[in-house]
Formats: sequence, structure tokens, C-alpha cells
Amino acid sequence: MINKKILSDSAKDFIDDDYFAGLIVKTKPDKNAVRDIISKSMSKQALSTEETAMLLAADRELTEEIFDAARELKKRVYGNRIVLFAPLYIGNKCINDCAYCAFRSSNKESLRRTLSPDEIAAQVEALENVGHKRLILVFGEHKDYDANYIADCVRQVYSIKVGHGEIRRVNINAAPLDIEGFRTVKQSGIGTYQIFMETYNHAAYAAYHPSATRKGDYLYRLDGLSRAFEAGCDDVGIGALFGLSDWRFDVLGLVSHSLFLQKNYGVGPHTISFPRIQPAAGVDIDKKWLVGDYEFKKLVAILRLAVPYTGLILTARESPALRREVMNFGVSQIDAGSRIEIGGYTELGDAQVMEREQFVLGDIRSLDAVMKELIDDGFVPSFCTSCYRLGRTGEHFMEFAIPGFIKKFCQPNALTTLKEYLVDYASKETKAAGEKLIKAEIAKIVDEKIKSQVADRLEKIEQTNQRDLYF
Ligand code: SAM
Ligand code: SF4
Repeated sequence: MINKKILSDSAKDFIDDDYFAGLIVKTKPDKNAVRDIISKSMSKQALSTEETAMLLAADRELTEEIFDAARELKKRVYGNRIVLFAPLYIGNKCINDCAYCAFRSSNKESLRRTLSPDEIAAQVEALENVGHKRLILVFGEHKDYDANYIADCVRQVYSIKVGHGEIRRVNINAAPLDIEGFRTVKQSGIGTYQIFMETYNHAAYAAYHPSATRKGDYLYRLDGLSRAFEAGCDDVGIGALFGLSDWRFDVLGLVSHSLFLQKNYGVGPHTISFPRIQPAAGVDIDKKWLVGDYEFKKLVAILRLAVPYTGLILTARESPALRREVMNFGVSQIDAGSRIEIGGYTELGDAQVMEREQFVLGDIRSLDAVMKELIDDGFVPSFCTSCYRLGRTGEHFMEFAIPGFIKKFCQPNALTTLKEYLVDYASKETKAAGEKLIKAEIAKIVDEKIKSQVADRLEKIEQTNQRDLYF
């Protein structure tokens, strides 16, 4: 019999529930300590779990300082770019029975469906036709969705092109694979592989994920992205589903997970996601741990300060108004124009059909409407995919750590990809606002060589069919 390696070399359950619970209860707010921790973060250092616990303990007054610091860090370090993407649900068959999810196996109301290759093509064309360049493919956990199948879907998505439309980066959110499986998907050219731990609290994890199911194995899931690293995928995304347990515990879990990956693989996660539980078909879970808007804002600001090298993803689960506010705390990516019903980009218009989706979305505005709002708020929406295609993985790290990186690469690429959007897809209003923004941003470029290179590329996009002119 072949002895197949199930876990990574570094497999270890590094979450100590008692220690975290103790930190949450025993850490008392201390103004000086909070201010020292904020300045550590401002000097680009990641925080320990103990330091993060001190921020979590902050009272309302100190939390205002945390909000200000997150806004300042965002402005000072990352600039004003926001990367846009869309989720594409490929199939919702699932062997697991996660109590919060409409795709869970015991939900007999859920309409099970897997997109055929033609249907995938139709969804991707619809996404390209509104201007998307970056997708995340989402799958239930099922034998039909093994590593080869996922890899085939990725290749197919990259192959579909309409007009100037193409998908330049495909990320994945799917079940944890074994090491061989991660090698297979890596070869198809994926960007980030995301796996959310849902909750790091062992007791809560056990309560939501029946032990007889695949997902019921806590360590197998916790170890998932370590296996990805060992298979050569060094671009991974972690996340927690807020509302399953004490939110402060899960912030500590995310920070520990980042530190663990950094220590063992020399690089932390590329992104952290922090979805909050949304209503879902047939789901009725304990509301005790639901996270309010204030706590949500606090957790985003604290994550920004705790893991300065990591991208933060704010999804369309949240309402437009909350997204607009939280964006300022250092969020780096959002999805827009999202539909999460299987086939939703072509079949349903603006309706949300609960039996066909995993949960209800809070923001179903069009990509163009979201672009317009971002531009009006002074953000530069970006579809840049340059770093991963040039092998510059860990780009968020580089943005932060390498002097001049943002000015040399990120900002120029944001402007050229925005220009492509404006020329090829934007409404009249968005185009007018975007052109004005581009002009203002070009005026800010100090380096004359970069300025003229950017101007040259913008001109080519406007006047010719040349696209994808990245730095
Ligand atoms: N089936 C794979 C898995 O569980 O890892 C892929 C991910 S699932 C389709 C995407 C994510 O959606 C889950 O990891 C979970 O965090 C989130 N999710 C599930 N039910 C949700 C709900 N009711 N509200 C908000 N997010 C939810
Ligand atoms: Fe299946 Fe993922 Fe939903 Fe759990 S969260 S039931 S694994 S699709």
C-alpha cells in the first residue's frame, strides 16, 4: 500500500484555547501600552498575539485611536489603490454539513448544480463583458471537485477571451487538498488559494462541523495551507467566519496563523478575509456570537495594525454603507458586481434566490457603480495582476517593505488597468470621473521617467488595441 502523506511537515495544532481565553479575559486596557503597540505597527512590524490582545481590550476612547492609526497606516503606506475581483461559484455539491451554510449536505432545499464547461464560459464572458480581470472560483467539497477538476476549470477560465476581455488572475476558494492536489492546481496557474478556518476555537469548530464529516477534522483544515506551501503554492489566503465564536478569539487565531506560516515558510498569508455570517437558506444558528458593526470595524482596524504585510479582503457580504466606511481602515481588495448563485451572472438579473446561493449578499451593486463610488471617494480602483505574472509573489509584502515599490509598480499598474476599464467598459459618468482622477494621479508622480512611461501607456490604451501593458 502506498503510504500517502496526509499532513504537512510542520503540522501542529498551534491554537491554545485556554491561553487565548486567558488573554481575552486578563488583558486590561492600558493607554500607554496601546500607544506603544500602535507605533510598533506604524514602524512596519507585525504584532504578537499578546500585543493584539491589548488592542482588542481597548475601550471606546482608545479604539478611536486604533481607527485613526489604521486610517493613517493605510494612507501613509499603501496609498489609495483598491483591487477589484469577482467570485464565480462553480458548483455547490458538498459532503460537509457546516451548520451556517446553505450548501451543507443536510439542506435538502438547496438546488445542487455544477456549471458545465459551456456554462462556465457563459459566466466568464459575462464577467469579462463588464470589465472584470480577476476572479475567485468557489467550490463546495465533493469528489467531483478534485484537484484535477479545479485545475481544468482554472485553465478553461484563462482561455476565455471576449473583445479586450480576459481573466488575468484566477484565485481559488475550495476545500483543503493534499500536497499532491496542491501541486496539481499550482500547475494550472492559480493566484491565491484561500481556505478559511471558519473559527479557530476548538469547541465552536466542533459544534458547527460534525465530526463524522471531512471538515470535522480541525487539524486537517488548520494544516491545509501549510500543505499548500509544501507543494510550492506560496500565495495563500486565510480567513475566519465571524459570528461562530468570540470575535476576539478569532482575531487572535488569524494573527497566530499568520505568524505560524511566516515562521515555518518564511512568508505569511497574502490575504486575510473576515466574512461575517449572513442569512442563508434553511440556516438557523445561535445568534449569540454575531458581530455588530462597531466590533466589525474594530476587528478590521486591529487586523490592519497586527499584520501590516498582509492584504485585507472586504467582501460584498457587507452593505454598501459599511463597505464605504471600512475601506478606509486599510482594506486592499473588494469584490464588486458579485452574484453567488450558480449561474447568477447570466440567469437572474438583480434578484437573489436563496435556494440557489450560499448566503445572502449585502452589496449587489454593479461593478460600474462600485467603481464610481471608489473614484468619487479618491480611491484608485485597480485590476492589476502584474506581480504574480512576473513571479513577484508576496507583492503585498513588497509594497510595504521595498522602498519605492508602490510608486514604481503598483500605482502605474493601477492607473493603466483603470484606464483599460474606462476605455472598454465604463459608463459615461464613471469614465468622466475616472479620467479626472487619472489626471490628478499622474500630476502627483514625481519621477519624470515613470510619469512619461505611464502617460505613454495610457495614450496607447486610448488610441490603439494594445492592452495589458504592465510594469
Ligand atoms: N466549501 C469550501 C470550504 O468550506 O472551504 C469552500 C468555501 S465556501 C463555498 C466559502 C466560504 O463561505 C466558507 O469558507 C465560509 O467561510 C463562508 N460562508 C459559508 N456560509 C456562510 C454564511 N451563511 N454567511 C457568510 N459566509 C458564509
Ligand atoms: Fe460545504 Fe464549504 Fe458550505 Fe461547508 S462551507 S457546507 S464545506 S460549501
